[in-house]
Amino acid sequence: MYFSKHNIFSKIKDSDSYYIVNLLTGNADILDKGKADEIISGKFTETEEYEAKGYITDEAAEKRLYTEKYLDFTDERDNDEVQIFFVPWYSCNFDCSYCYQAEYDNKFSIPTKETIDSFFKYVKDEFRDRKKYITLFGGEPLLPGNKYKEMITYFLDKADSLGLDIAVVTNGYALAEYIDILKTRRIREIQVTLDGAGEIHNQRRPLRGGDPTFYKIVEGIDLAIANKLTINLRVVIDRENIYGLVELSRFAIDKGWTKSDYFKTQLGRNYELHYCQSGNSKLLSRIEFYETIYKLIIQYPEIAEFHKPAFSISKFLFENGELPSPLFDACPGTKTEWAFDYTGKIYSCTATVGKPGSSLGTYYPEVSLEREKVNDWEERDVTTISECRTCELQLACGGGCAAVAFNKTGRLHSPDCRPIKESIGLGISLYFNKEIA
Ligand code: SF4
Ligand code: SF4
Repeated sequence: MYFSKHNIFSKIKDSDSYYIVNLLTGNADILDKGKADEIISGKFTETEEYEAKGYITDEAAEKRLYTEKYLDFTDERDNDEVQIFFVPWYSCNFDCSYCYQAEYDNKFSIPTKETIDSFFKYVKDEFRDRKKYITLFGGEPLLPGNKYKEMITYFLDKADSLGLDIAVVTNGYALAEYIDILKTRRIREIQVTLDGAGEIHNQRRPLRGGDPTFYKIVEGIDLAIANKLTINLRVVIDRENIYGLVELSRFAIDKGWTKSDYFKTQLGRNYELHYCQSGNSKLLSRIEFYETIYKLIIQYPEIAEFHKPAFSISKFLFENGELPSPLFDACPGTKTEWAFDYTGKIYSCTATVGKPGSSLGTYYPEVSLEREKVNDWEERDVTTISECRTCELQLACGGGCAAVAFNKTGRLHSPDCRPIKESIGLGISLYFNKEIA
């Protein structure tokens, strides 16, 4: 018998207590200091209970369970819905301070109907047996101007005729102008970014030329919600705007957005993707990001009305009373996510789409897939990354993002580590101890 290598054991933030989580067996406990000290010294008194929960186990039984859960995970994933991104152009009317596509070819070009037809044919043929939906991405897919609107309308009509739902990722500037086009189509959600309330947002996300964008976006959000189109509001956060989350939360609450069934939120950490950002000192590390959000929520609980962070498995555990299934792979690229652009190229996901040298094939003018490269992506999970294989956090972390790992090490099968222990410690403190819900 040994202390399971899948136990995640650490201190709860702002408390003397510890937590123990085992995602393989689906058990979790809060341990007082005395019990935690026993674990630290390796002398447990709760042997029977710990055995029943799999905190102590024998190696062969643990291996069997690991294999069983791994097969469950891959089976489930094979039945999951695929998110297929389509970039109709890389052009954008914004000049965001942190845009990772800033150095991509940004010509204002438009795909031909033939390209769009080929895209839908590919989707119909290649994803025939999969549940799927399409996400329009950019650049900025909802550009003002008739030629863009006509093309988007054509695209949405094609999706409609195939019974496919659409999500849209937009900067929101021309959203109000597109409402009449969107409201009669199968729109699952519209992701819009606001980086703060008013001035902070305008500084970070101005129009090309510098004009402000905040109030036009707010108008679009209001109109979308009024037309029962779901808004997924994203905030991209770094040192420059993290404290502005308080004002943005209050703004959304005052607007009545947070009470709407058609409103949800996500917080994204600004991070270096492909190009060195001018002013990297703005970026928060993951742990700085989590810790600051934690402190802010304690000080200003209204933020939790706007957004409740996951803190790894903590929010799920709090809301569902049980742990999520083990996460053998956090990266959906080529498994449940693909990205296509208007030039006819195929990519793994949004992090690689349009990046020179990252294409995995073409759907136009002819269909071709670089099978070896695709296999490499498909095979990446915690069982193929040597660092992850021996890591106690693997089933909560899932190995992170393949694109980030590749940028760091030049190897796809390398880890993109997450501060899982600290994150769970913060989340348990927030949701279970401080009862912020
Ligand atoms: S490589 Fe990163 S961005 Fe792309 S699908 Fe994987 S996790 Fe997502
Ligand atoms: S990416 Fe890092 S933290 Fe995550 S499982 Fe792999 S080694 Fe562990």
